[in-house]
Amino acid sequence: MTEAAVSDFRSDTLTRPDAAMREAMATAEVGDDVFGEDPTVRALETAAAAWLGKAAALFVPSGTMANQVAIHVHCRPGDELICEERSHVFLYEGGSVARLSGTQCRVLVAEDGFPAAAAIRAAVRADDPHFPASRLLVLENTHNMAGGRVLDAAGMAERVAVAREAGLAVHVDGARLANAAVALGTPAAQLVTDVDSVSLCLSKGLGAPVGSVLAGTETFVAAARRARKALGGGMRQAGVLAAAGLLALRDGPARLVNDHRRARELASAFAALPGCTPRDPDTNILMVDLDGPAAPFCAALAEHGVRALAVAPQRVRFVLHRDVDDRDVARCIDAARVAAARGAGGSAAARSKA
Ligand SMILES: *Cc1c(COP(=O)(O)O)cnc(C)c1O
Repeated sequence: MTEAAVSDFRSDTLTRPDAAMREAMATAEVGDDVFGEDPTVRALETAAAAWLGKAAALFVPSGTMANQVAIHVHCRPGDELICEERSHVFLYEGGSVARLSGTQCRVLVAEDGFPAAAAIRAAVRADDPHFPASRLLVLENTHNMAGGRVLDAAGMAERVAVAREAGLAVHVDGARLANAAVALGTPAAQLVTDVDSVSLCLSKGLGAPVGSVLAGTETFVAAARRARKALGGGMRQAGVLAAAGLLALRDGPARLVNDHRRARELASAFAALPGCTPRDPDTNILMVDLDGPAAPFCAALAEHGVRALAVAPQRVRFVLHRDVDDRDVARCIDAARVAAARGAGGSAAARSKA
């Protein structure tokens, strides 16, 4: 369990660098990366490009910057990008598609987070001066708010193909692409074949303290490097961060199976609790729908040292990651049992029994 005796399921961003990472950071060879002289950053960019099957990659401070730099390179003011309505680029990036790139979002509804090929094709604008110009498709894999849902290589290829036919570029928000690759047993590179750009968070389940990578062609990454600098993301002796990122990329993916297994265990425990309806988790994210309000349920969990996030009025998100182990899961199940029996899940049946 975590040192503060809190079992924290709010996010996989909560992972702290382990001893090996801290050692690698302390001893990293560094230089000024804006001058292209940090050997550790270069090593990370080379490794990330290879892992994602792209020609080049760029180290950036956050997943948000990775996505927004990509959008900035692909889109001009007056353009439109197509994405799912709960995608991170639309919901959680401060309106930066408009703010930084003068571009608007066309949002499509898809229960699993992945708009169908036909819906994408139908959303592409005709060539008419009234309309914004459809420029980019953004796919999020895994899809966070759909509950860590994965899209397999065939599903990706089908959507990429319609985008290509319509002349759109394709960016994959692969914040948790490693989770998708592990859950599917497919190399990450095969999930992003033929896409123009892909981002990957090193600072979530992979365990690095800071950083994401953005990959694509040499030309794309050269343009992304300019955009990163313009947005204030040029970092100097960033090798101290890249050193942790290298270990995250090397050792992180193999560990994710544990997170996925624990998410399934948690889901089956919740399925037995009154007033709780867990979704079937594909990866490390478990969404639990409650008969009642989420806030008091989370408060009841917190009384037992368990933290989770209310992501909707009646929905709680549990994220599994390397800083929660089997004991944390057991503690979470115990706490949830108490909360549900008390009727904190809102179940009338549970309340009448209490
Ligand atoms: C976390 C996340 C990001 C990026 O988040 P940062 O906090 O900026 O690193 C992007 N997309 C998705 C789907 C995410 O979950």
